[in-house]
Amino acid sequence: MLNLTKFLGYVAEHNPNEPEFLQAVTEVVEDLIPYINNHHQDYETLKILERIAEPERVVSFRVTWLDDNNVIQVNRGYRVQMNSAIGPYKGGLRFSPTVNLSILKFLAFEQVFKNSLTGLPIGGGKGGSDFNPKGKSDMEIMRFCQSFMTELYRHIGAETDVPAGDIGVGGREIGYLYGQYKRIQNNFTGVLTGKGVHWGGSYIRPEATGYGLLYFVSCVLDNNNDTLEGKTIAISGAGNVAYYAAEKAILLGAKVITLSNSSGTLYDEDGFTLEKLHHLATLGRDIQEFTKKYKSATFYAEQKPWQFKCDIALPCATQNELDKNDAEILVENGCICVAEGANMPSTAEAVKVFHAAKIVYAPGKAANAGGVAVSGLEMSQNAIGQQWNTQKVDSQLKAIMENIHRTCIRYGKEECGYINYLRGANIGGFIKVAEAMKAQGVV
Ligand code: NDP
Repeated sequence: MLNLTKFLGYVAEHNPNEPEFLQAVTEVVEDLIPYINNHHQDYETLKILERIAEPERVVSFRVTWLDDNNVIQVNRGYRVQMNSAIGPYKGGLRFSPTVNLSILKFLAFEQVFKNSLTGLPIGGGKGGSDFNPKGKSDMEIMRFCQSFMTELYRHIGAETDVPAGDIGVGGREIGYLYGQYKRIQNNFTGVLTGKGVHWGGSYIRPEATGYGLLYFVSCVLDNNNDTLEGKTIAISGAGNVAYYAAEKAILLGAKVITLSNSSGTLYDEDGFTLEKLHHLATLGRDIQEFTKKYKSATFYAEQKPWQFKCDIALPCATQNELDKNDAEILVENGCICVAEGANMPSTAEAVKVFHAAKIVYAPGKAANAGGVAVSGLEMSQNAIGQQWNTQKVDSQLKAIMENIHRTCIRYGKEECGYINYLRGANIGGFIKVAEAMKAQGVV
């Protein structure tokens, strides 16, 4: 029989100084070990858990580039190729000074389960660099991306590993990365997703994570005979995921009261409208400026959105941004659902608070899988040389999110009727990968 404490001791010993990775593994194996002991004891002998917690490959490399003053800059690039049992490695690239191996391993590990949940044939990976894109000129961003790809290109491929965007990597960066890949390889292929719609990209990819999150929340509410109409929603972040989550929430009749970034939180007592959102998008990171035009809004410097009373909380910024104290305030204020647009935004203690209060907690690996799902659809379109229209991609995205929701219920419904979405997502995402690893032998 597998023992949780013993297994976590093993992972901690093999991955010293990697707290985020250990946190992600703990959150998953707490559900998997009892399940394996009850249903799949052969996985113990096959060392499925030891293998799934060990990246198949980790590449780390030097990225040297010239800034606008012709000064040489040196950063570190990474690609973590976690698991390819069910398809090519797939997962975003993050450019942020906070990037380190622990964070990329946690993200790659989560990605394995998330990608499996989409039902598409994609394995898990993640990459990025400690490069800080903030305050850099367009040319500096381009030179950095070109240098980064000059090493990365040898480790990726349309049927090997297909990176996409993440924090600090949007359409512009994907463009520069793709241009350099094509220049080196002389090959127009689907090696990256998140490409522009005129050069191999998919409609709805920029919107997919945020829209998918709201489709998932709609399923959650529908399961309780409820809808988004009139619900008050607090969102953190003001980037790709937060923006499109807010847009879809407004379109579905909810009232979005907050958006935020690392400088603070914008609270609008009247709720954001589409017009207000468009204005916010023109302000860049200076979200405080918003209050000059809209008097219903107040900016709270250095504060998080979770103090404001809401029915639904959507953390869409970064890992561990919502702690135990925030979770307690949300529960006290009557929040009925926390659904994660970001990856692991709730600390382990916060998740315990949600579960104890029996409110809905939808983990990122299920709730934010819409982004990678449409990336998977972009790969399919590239492979057959076609481009599907907005309606077709959007309806497939919706169907995938509904399917993930069904999987969570299937594996996460407790005897009392409470749905433990985390357990449902962990077990539902794991089974397919474990069976593929078993079938493929000791590799
Ligand atoms: P972006 O870079 O577009 O936006 C990130 C946003 O989060 C920015 O507003 C940023 O503010 C804010 N933020 C970052 N760190 C902090 C912090 N410590 N405190 C408060 N705000 C912070 O990234 P994305 O929207 O693409 O990604 C957001 C999250 O969603 C990440 O966890 C990512 O892994 C996850 N995700 C993204 C997917 C995608 O398709 N893009 C898919 C699935 C998950 P500032 O500018 O001030 O730093």
